[in-house]
Amino acid sequence: MNKDTCIKALALNETVRVYLLKNTNTVNTAIEKHNLWPSSTSVLGKALSMGQMMGHMLKGEEALTIKIAGNGYLGKVIVDANAKGEVRGYVDNPNVNFVNNTGGLNDLYAIGNEGLIEVIKDLKMKDLFTSSIELTGNLASDFTYYFYESEQTPSLVSLGILVGEDNKCIISGGIIIQVLPNATDKEITTIEEKASLLSNFSELLQIASLEDILHILFNDDYQILDEVNVSFKCSCSKESFSRSLLTLGSKTLKEILDEDHHIETRCYYCNDKYDFNEEEITLLINEAASQGK
Ligand code: ZN
Repeated sequence: MNKDTCIKALALNETVRVYLLKNTNTVNTAIEKHNLWPSSTSVLGKALSMGQMMGHMLKGEEALTIKIAGNGYLGKVIVDANAKGEVRGYVDNPNVNFVNNTGGLNDLYAIGNEGLIEVIKDLKMKDLFTSSIELTGNLASDFTYYFYESEQTPSLVSLGILVGEDNKCIISGGIIIQVLPNATDKEITTIEEKASLLSNFSELLQIASLEDILHILFNDDYQILDEVNVSFKCSCSKESFSRSLLTLGSKTLKEILDEDHHIETRCYYCNDKYDFNEEEITLLINEAASQGK
C-alpha cells in the first residue's frame, strides 16, 4: 500500500504556499485502534488531516494539539501532531454514524453547531500558544477562519474522506492553500476561481495523485519544496504508564495490589492497553517508597 504523504509546495510565482496530504492509512489505523463508526471516522479523520498538515508547518521538536469541543454526539475530538509527520488522536464517542439525505456522512450532527476549536502550539518556548475560534460544524471552513483570524493568513482549506460499506476508509486527505504577503489581487482571484475544483476533495483524491492535483490547480506554476511520510503514531509506552502509576504513591499502589492484584491501563490516544501484574506492581511500590512517595 502506498505510504501516506504530505507535500509542501509554492505556487503562482511563489505567492501561495500549499500543503497537500493523502493519509488514508492514518485514518484506517485510527479506525482499527478506536473501532470508529463512519461519522466518528469522518470527523476524527479530518482532524487528523489538519494535524498532519499543520504539523508540517512546525519544525524540530515543536508540536501542536487540536481540541474540537462541540455540542454534537461525538463529544470532544483531540489530536496531537508533531513536525515529524506523526499524529495521534481520539474522539469521546467512537460509535457515531449520521448519513445526510444524499447518502454522505453528516459531520454537522456529529460535531454540533456550537462550541470551540482550540489549537495549542508547543513551540518549545516558555509558554504554550493557544488560540481558539467558535465552531460551526464544518471543519474545512472553520479552519479557513482559524488561519485568517488566529494566524492572519488568508487560506483555503479543503478536507475529504470517503468511508466504504465495510467501515474502512477508501480515501482521505486535505489541502491548505495559504496566500503569502507578496500575493496580488490577480493571484487571489486565481485561487478563488480554483476553489470550486476543491469542493469535493475526496473525489479529486480518488482520481488524481497529489502532484496531479498541483498540476490541475496551477498548471506548471508550482515548485515542490518537500514531500514527507506521515503516519498515526502514539508516543505512549509501558514505561510512560509506569511513571504515571508511581505518582499514585506506595500506599495507594499497595491497596490496589491487595484488592485487585493487577492494574490495567489504557492510552486514550491509541487505545493500547498496558497490564501490570503483581510482580510489576510490587516493583513500582518499592520504587515509589524509595523515592519517598
Ligand atoms: Zn498511546
